[in-house]
Amino acid sequence: MEKNVLVMIPGPTPVVKSIQEQMGREIQAFGDPRFVKDYKELIDELGTLFNCSGQTFPLAGTGTLAMEMAIANVTKRGDNILIVSNGFFGDRFIDICERKGLHVDVLSAEWGNAVSPEAIDQKLSEKNYAAMTVTHVDTSTAVIAPVAEIGKVMKKHPDTIFILDGVAATAGEFADVDGMGIDVMFTGSQKAFGVCPGMFVLWAGKKALARRKTLGTIPEYYVDFEKWLPIMENPAKYFATPAVNLVWAMKEATEIIKAEGLQARDARHHKNAQAIHKALEAVGFTILAKPECRADTLSVCIYPDGVDDAKFRAAMFDAGVIVAGALGAYAGKAFRLGHMGNIDQNTIVQALSAVERALQACGHSVKFGTAVGAYLSAMNQ
Ligand SMILES: *Cc1c(COP(=O)(O)O)cnc(C)c1O
Repeated sequence: MEKNVLVMIPGPTPVVKSIQEQMGREIQAFGDPRFVKDYKELIDELGTLFNCSGQTFPLAGTGTLAMEMAIANVTKRGDNILIVSNGFFGDRFIDICERKGLHVDVLSAEWGNAVSPEAIDQKLSEKNYAAMTVTHVDTSTAVIAPVAEIGKVMKKHPDTIFILDGVAATAGEFADVDGMGIDVMFTGSQKAFGVCPGMFVLWAGKKALARRKTLGTIPEYYVDFEKWLPIMENPAKYFATPAVNLVWAMKEATEIIKAEGLQARDARHHKNAQAIHKALEAVGFTILAKPECRADTLSVCIYPDGVDDAKFRAAMFDAGVIVAGALGAYAGKAFRLGHMGNIDQNTIVQALSAVERALQACGHSVKFGTAVGAYLSAMNQ
């Protein structure tokens, strides 16, 4: 029998049956009026759901391509850009922006902390920045940025485009594009949307679209807003082949998110995360992110003394659950547990019960039921 392994990494996340079924459908031509209608509905629904009065682009590619698309359409060679980094994915923008020929300034937090809105305000006052990037949840640290507060600060800096990397956050942590003053936001299908990897969604507000208009012809081709705008308006037109089955899968995911409601989904992730943190602490783990900036979509869990990373994760796999290693200075010292998307209490119980067995296998004895019990008590009090 092939081993059934529950995927509890920070993306891809578990894919529910109704979404799997969309992936497995018989293909349709991208010009088939039925598909054109589906694609148009997805574009419009995503725009409405996340309150973006500009243009929403659900396209084939991963989150990293969306990062390039964001930068390509709002900056030109020689511009200043501010990168606000709370970890590895914040830092990824440095390379992207340097390759583009931008002058890069970086505001970094120590891992486990978030850069404050005050520090951002001060830095943006020093010179003219064409754009700024913020990572909503940095997947290396599980730190959440104070997006709403940063959005308020941006009102004082109207010439700077606010780019938000929502890849490990959007549809797990609340976001409102126009309402929070976000100019560009993007996410990947495989994170809190709970779809297979392969698609990203980029929301461009009116200010970002206006900036693109000032840039003339840009060096990038596939990610150019101007190439896609006519297609997003009328998907019967062709620019590059849409990922037909992923469009359907994203449509089903969007229906699931809409039915739950963005605020309710955020509240569910929050309650779950709080209970998961209690459970992990009960068996000796330390959560890397400080309580005031802890994400709800994943956790970086520092091992109790004497627990070996490779051994622990191998024992987790034996117990039927795969988790991710930590990054940077925390590699070998912590593991990362994804808890975003379309998952329920049973899934978490399964993961935490594997954590108990893996600790036992690593010689760190715990009374069985400690983590599971702490989780269920917190969820059901
Ligand atoms: C996963 C992730 C990315 C990269 O997305 P890919 O789909 O792997 O290209 C970027 N930013 C954040 C915050 C992520 O979690």
